[in-house]
Amino acid sequence: TKDFKIENFIRTNVQNMAPYSSARDEFTKVADVYLDANENPFENGINRYPDPYQKLVKERLSEIKNIPTQNMILGNGSDEILDLIFRAFCEPKEDNVICTPPTYGMYKVLAGLNDIELKNSVLTVDFNLNVADILSQIDANTKIIFLCSPNNPTGNIIPENQIEEVLTKSNCLVVIDEAYIDFASSPSWTTKLEQYPNLIVCQTLSKAYGMAGIRLGLCFASTKIVSVLNKIKPPYNVNVLTQRTALEALNDVEGYEGKLELILQERESMRDALSELSFVKKIYPSDANFWLIKVEDANNIYNKLLDLGIVIRNRCNQVLCENTLRITIGTPIENEKLIQALRKL
Ligand code: PMP
Repeated sequence: TKDFKIENFIRTNVQNMAPYSSARDEFTKVADVYLDANENPFENGINRYPDPYQKLVKERLSEIKNIPTQNMILGNGSDEILDLIFRAFCEPKEDNVICTPPTYGMYKVLAGLNDIELKNSVLTVDFNLNVADILSQIDANTKIIFLCSPNNPTGNIIPENQIEEVLTKSNCLVVIDEAYIDFASSPSWTTKLEQYPNLIVCQTLSKAYGMAGIRLGLCFASTKIVSVLNKIKPPYNVNVLTQRTALEALNDVEGYEGKLELILQERESMRDALSELSFVKKIYPSDANFWLIKVEDANNIYNKLLDLGIVIRNRCNQVLCENTLRITIGTPIENEKLIQALRKL
């Protein structure tokens, strides 16, 4: 990444545009009377627009993750962050990005939506990166490489040396999607932000923090990358209720750690129970809050469970995932129901 310059990656129209300046851009100045934003004046706790830069949430995240607030941008779920990254750095109809299937489906959806070519570099059979293949697919218009670690739907963490090779040998932006990092035994790549100017790390409060419903995605990158994304984000992309709820949850460290610990324990018991079923051919290693398993007839098991009112994810149609099912770790009671149902099949 010697000659990586973010300036060369910014989409031309983004480079030339001035951002929308919101009424609350000067939020830090406290006034007596706010008659600037055409809000309804009667207080109900949500009649005001939210802080566009989510100062309080970022300050708390900064304490937890030991990352300066200037290196963060928050979004309406990490899905919004991923979309912002496409729109900031890729020229529709010209540029391309690389992803590594089987992986999270939104990279493909967002590439399609933004009219960006998606190149696939299929993982190896044990779900590691084929680094040589990734590097060989890069051309002058390749802007972003999306890596997901721990990967969805496979569950495994991508080895550090493989990601490092992609970061150093490519001249592209490298997005590491760490939606499941809190469940993993390996550390986050956020500690390497200073080392790699082309690194973007995405995380979320939807998984380990148990707040998929409020939609809060986290993105960590260089201050230059963050300022480009800030320029194009919708002014009030993280609403008041989300900011408030996130702050409460981020302050409840014990609640977070207790539930995380229970999910990790359940993950291990679930593996033991699954491994005793004759039709389970393989349980893939997981650093996430789910197991990917290979079975004899995935469609059949999937449908039978549905009949019993239990929904899991059928991943058969993805490359390398023939006859696989992805099972999220639930509460002890839910997991027991699943295992009982599977035993009866
Ligand atoms: N990345 C990965 C790998 C995911 O699995 C998911 C959700 N399933 C997301 C991102 C989206 O997360 P969010 O809820 O923050 O939009």
